[in-house]
Amino acid sequence: MSITRRQLIADSSKLALGLGAALSAVEQAQGAQAAEKPADKLRIVVCGGHPGDPEYGCGGMIARLTACGHDVALLYMNEGDWPPTPANVRLAEAQKACEILKARRLYAGQKNGHSIVDADHFDQYRKVLEAEKPDVVLTHWPLDNHRDHRACSALTYDAWLQMGKKFALYYYEVSTGEDTQQFAPACYVDISAFEAAKRAACYAHASQTPDSYYALQDSVAAFRGAESGSKRAEAFLLQRGGPGDLLSGALKSC
Ligand SMILES: [Zn+2]
Repeated sequence: MSITRRQLIADSSKLALGLGAALSAVEQAQGAQAAEKPADKLRIVVCGGHPGDPEYGCGGMIARLTACGHDVALLYMNEGDWPPTPANVRLAEAQKACEILKARRLYAGQKNGHSIVDADHFDQYRKVLEAEKPDVVLTHWPLDNHRDHRACSALTYDAWLQMGKKFALYYYEVSTGEDTQQFAPACYVDISAFEAAKRAACYAHASQTPDSYYALQDSVAAFRGAESGSKRAEAFLLQRGGPGDLLSGALKSC
């Protein structure tokens, strides 16, 4: 069965119809902005299991890329609904985080803690990415203690294969040691000048105890910085077989 993103949003039993309509309107408006992107700028999608994952794992780099005109969308696989915090609160926090990072918000229609990785959802997720026509996609490193993160990584990797390995695929880390396991990155991005924007985007997820989670992620950023010669860094691993290290090329002029 073919499922469109808008149908998934509309069908979501945990989202009010008004929220679904608001999401569609926001995404249409943001899509119109993306269509005006200059030809020399990259289209980048950062995939995460939950609202907050792209921000914690890649927020500094996202801020750095959007500051020099690249188009970045944050694709949340699920809406983060988990008692006592409902989906509309999590998605509103995500919208605020995206505005801080000057990125667009996308939602793949799954449910928090109930990831589905089957033929229909592989196809549905791939169609969301196909609509974005990305040059670069980032996703969770597949070894992760959270099943939603593993599912997000599997769905993204399958889309990369099915789309003919057309985009550069990178893996990122989040809550390293607690979630991400055995990550050995090879690409380091200096985010020292963008740490404040990353912090603000992470703290936009106010319902998710940012004091503790940001402290952990910031210690990882300091460690990656020490490894690579900067105050703060984010680290990534490029999947072999794609069009090459497009991010490093773009960041040379950012
Ligand atoms: Zn997560």
